Amino acid sequence: LSQENQNILDASEWVAKLYHHVLRYTKNGEDGYHYLRERGITDETIRTFQLGFAPNVKDFTAEFLAKKGFHQQHLAKAGLISVNDDNTLVDNFQGRVIFPIRNHLGKTIAFGGRTLFEQDPKYLNSPQNDLFHKGKILYNFDLAKKQIRKQAEAVLFEGYMDVIAAHQAGVENAVATLGTSLTESQARLLRRYVDTVVICYDADAAGTDAAYKASETLRKAGCHVKIANLTENMDPDDYITEYGAESFRQNVIASSMTFTSFYMQYLKRDFNLSVESDRIQYIENVLKHLATIDSAVEREYYLKEVSEAYSVSMDSLLNEIQANREKMG
Ligand code: ATP
Ligand code: MN
Ligand code: MN
Ligand code: MN
Repeated sequence: LSQENQNILDASEWVAKLYHHVLRYTKNGEDGYHYLRERGITDETIRTFQLGFAPNVKDFTAEFLAKKGFHQQHLAKAGLISVNDDNTLVDNFQGRVIFPIRNHLGKTIAFGGRTLFEQDPKYLNSPQNDLFHKGKILYNFDLAKKQIRKQAEAVLFEGYMDVIAAHQAGVENAVATLGTSLTESQARLLRRYVDTVVICYDADAAGTDAAYKASETLRKAGCHVKIANLTENMDPDDYITEYGAESFRQNVIASSMTFTSFYMQYLKRDFNLSVESDRIQYIENVLKHLATIDSAVEREYYLKEVSEAYSVSMDSLLNEIQANREKMG
């Protein structure tokens, strides 16, 4: 590790402690603390995730770190402060609730910060540098990996707050991407620890598209994919707030659907099923996917569903799928 990177790591560690202390024990942090408590986050969870608050004071972080002997340029590189044209320093995260982002060894390497108001951007993340590559890190992986192994399953979320709310609701094998789509590198990381990944993204159009993309990436990496059964237009954190931990575990996570069920649903978007020719194309696309399933029992299970829903005989479906499988070789 270069001296500069070591300095960035050290500074990040200090800042995480500082912001956490501010949130928990000082007047400067009251707004952040109340914000989290109002969202149902407990003191214990705040401690577990070392959540913090960056005070609304322009040079708070710069001052603190200068006293500890850190150099401005390192702090700027870490994205903690910016140097203005007139050479004054500003704290980039000021007025935001802070989510320290740790690498797999548990070292803080970056931060996410959420505004308390409707302000743009809602979340601010540290810039990428030698230590922090968004596409290689999964939020909370360091804490979750033990449970991921133990439960032989990981649950993948979109946001920090989803992971935190899920953890508090007893789903401790929870990780999230950092505001970008899931990368191959993240999928491979998960695959090293686990066979099955449950995707629990926001149940809106954007989240569903992202869930489809993530499943493709995970399946390519050799993961078995399931999709959580979230109520339309909610995100996991909303669901937990509305219906509670028990219902989240039972009705959302434990009731996940297979990738195939999800895909059969998802594909419908591309077709107008009240039009006959579209309906036929839809069925043919479903069959293409079903042909890739190795288990004959599983194939028949879904074929039956198609057969009943669209009044097509099992015989013709079986013939078509056989043809598809032969084409695949
Ligand atoms: P909250 O419940 O606090 O509103 P959320 O997690 O539901 O947050 P989403 O809008 O669903 O927020 O976004 C999911 C994730 O995407 C966030 O956790 C964050 O990592 C990232 N993200 C969201 N908005 C931004 C943004 N403006 N800039 C960068 N990343 C963002
Ligand atoms: Mn969203
Ligand atoms: Mn969300
Ligand atoms: Mn949310």
